Amino acid sequence: MSYEVRCACGQTREASAANAGASLLCVCGRAIEVPPLHQLRLAAGEAVLSAAVRVEALLLKGLLPGTRECSVCFRETGDVVHVAVECERGRMTTASGTPREQAAAGCLLGALIGGLPGLIAANRMMKQTEVEGPKQIGQDVAFTLPLPVCVDCRFDLDERQSLVRALRAIPDYAALLDRYPAALLRLVG
Ligand SMILES: [Zn+2]
Ligand SMILES: [Zn+2]
Repeated sequence: MSYEVRCACGQTREASAANAGASLLCVCGRAIEVPPLHQLRLAAGEAVLSAAVRVEALLLKGLLPGTRECSVCFRETGDVVHVAVECERGRMTTASGTPREQAAAGCLLGALIGGLPGLIAANRMMKQTEVEGPKQIGQDVAFTLPLPVCVDCRFDLDERQSLVRALRAIPDYAALLDRYPAALLRLVG
């Protein structure tokens, strides 16, 4: 994980965790003070975390999706489908049960978990509940999101594109997808 630090002259340099609290020499000759690691992590992760933590919290409280309007045709419906959203693939367990390392796909969260009490607290809460909801699989951040979709529209959700469009009808899901554009989506029922 590298972080960006900016010199007074406007140039940026990459800093690693090892540079935290020290200084880097800019091409202009000035020394750039690198903040302590927790500050670097916060600065890099605050925006990313807010969407995931918010969705986690709302799911645990049972406040999502927060509407009965079909996410495709916007008519009122009592039907709900569930979409598995895998925001980050840190470690996957294959069918045979062998853990396999996977490249992280466009998400930063795994690298940031250490310094963020909010998410850790949320994860602890999750462990106590057996409800469909966010699950921490190794370094993955995964959710099963309830989505109001009427029976007529259900079959329009075959493609990722239409699934994304439907999810985006819910503002908190849209924020999550903004943060994790490479998230894996799967209709689970
Ligand atoms: Zn400079
Ligand atoms: Zn509909």
